[in-house]
Amino acid sequence: MKKHITVIGAGIVGIATASYLRRDGHRVTVIDRLPPGQYCSFGNAGILSPGSCVPQALPGVLSKVPGYLMDPLGPLSIRPAHFLKAMPWFLRLLEASRLSRVEKIADALRPLLKQTFEAYAPLVSNANVSDLIRQTGYVVAYSTLEGYQADALAWKLRQDRGVLIQTLHSKEIQDKLPQLKGQFEIGLYLPEQGFVANPERLTQSLAQQFQADGGEILQREVLDIECNDSGPHSLLTDQGRWPVDQLVICAGSHSHIWAKKLGDVLPLEAERGYHVTYSDPHCSLPMPLFLPEQKVFVTPMEMGLRIAGQSEFAGNDAPPNYARADVLRQQMQNIFPGISAVDSTQWMGRRPSMPDSLPVIGPASKMAKVWYAFGHGHVGLCGGAPTGRLLADLIAGRKPNIDVRPFSPSRFS
Ligand SMILES: Cc1cc2nc3c(=O)[nH]c(=O)nc-3n(C[C@H](O)[C@H](O)[C@H](O)COP(=O)(O)OP(=O)(O)OC[C@H]3O[C@@H](n4cnc5c(N)ncnc54)[C@H](O)[C@@H]3O)c2cc1C
Repeated sequence: MKKHITVIGAGIVGIATASYLRRDGHRVTVIDRLPPGQYCSFGNAGILSPGSCVPQALPGVLSKVPGYLMDPLGPLSIRPAHFLKAMPWFLRLLEASRLSRVEKIADALRPLLKQTFEAYAPLVSNANVSDLIRQTGYVVAYSTLEGYQADALAWKLRQDRGVLIQTLHSKEIQDKLPQLKGQFEIGLYLPEQGFVANPERLTQSLAQQFQADGGEILQREVLDIECNDSGPHSLLTDQGRWPVDQLVICAGSHSHIWAKKLGDVLPLEAERGYHVTYSDPHCSLPMPLFLPEQKVFVTPMEMGLRIAGQSEFAGNDAPPNYARADVLRQQMQNIFPGISAVDSTQWMGRRPSMPDSLPVIGPASKMAKVWYAFGHGHVGLCGGAPTGRLLADLIAGRKPNIDVRPFSPSRFS
């Protein structure tokens, strides 16, 4: 039966979900206070990584945190004012870092992310932007053998789940990426991975096609959700009331606010990250480069060369601290000595992160006619289209092609 479905959020997850719902013939309205793709989906590293099934926290994570926090070039920062507020989330992260839990998380993530290229294919083809998706593989490079050995569990988790991984010695890293200067001792090549050459243009193009196909996008801020016994009946927005029948929450790092209103108390943090994009770097790469020791990706975008990374916990509303982007600039200098930063731009975005690294996908646990698709953390670009297709299957009553139970909101109750 065709329904009227309202989606809150025009990031990549909301737009991919709306696109799949529209393909099923529903009447679909997306509401966002910003134009499509202007929040976290604007400036990510662009990586499409069907093999990214390893959660953020692995056994031993606690022992690494002090080192990360004390290193001025380190990947992690927590604003003192936000420390106590984020503590329950960190305790849950710690709990999710047990090996038995990590194995289960990887078992759940792999089937979802494995579908990324296949799930984007019909959307980008319909929008005539297949050129944005590049399945080049990517290179992982370690400056020391010890660094590589310290990550043994993460690579084993991927390999155990069928991710193709080739080991590269120093010379072979340079064969793949001649732009590097031999500063890496050991590396890996993951041939099935790839990237989006412009994440902003991807979301915008899919949004335009969604509208051309009869979908509706309204630029409004949602201020409240009004409910009665049978579920939500309207959204209170800055431009008046919007009546709703079925409601999908894809509001990124703000989604937990609406989930709470709808009866699900969920731990979600805005895990802020930064990028610096060099529009005229005088060098490019044939494929992305990942440096696990610094936790940064360098991606050859159509706008130039982008370095992205950092995990900053400061809440949704604190202003950006562009000293974190300067850390990325310094790392870029270390990788490509003398790179020109003259035309570089910087950006901060909020990853919607759950402490167990699993998104929330499926029906609300307490309220009828409400669906969730949020919390993808570091893999929201990769997970956007697979999530949209999955949610469309669930709403249509079709049997989903993967086990959705690990993504249930009730896992935290
Ligand atoms: C530095 C960095 C690098 C990253 N690299 C990668 C990567 O390489 N690969 C990958 O897969 N992922 C990556 N990510 C993660 C990825 O970008 C996110 O997971 C993804 O963009 C989340 O998409 P979303 O649609 O859930 O959220 P968003 O893009 O944040 O969209 C949510 C939308 O909801 C809207 N909204 C919220 N509240 C309201 C309201 N009250 N009223 C109206 N609208 C509202 C917002 O305006 C926003 O447009 C990276 C993130 C960062 C920060």
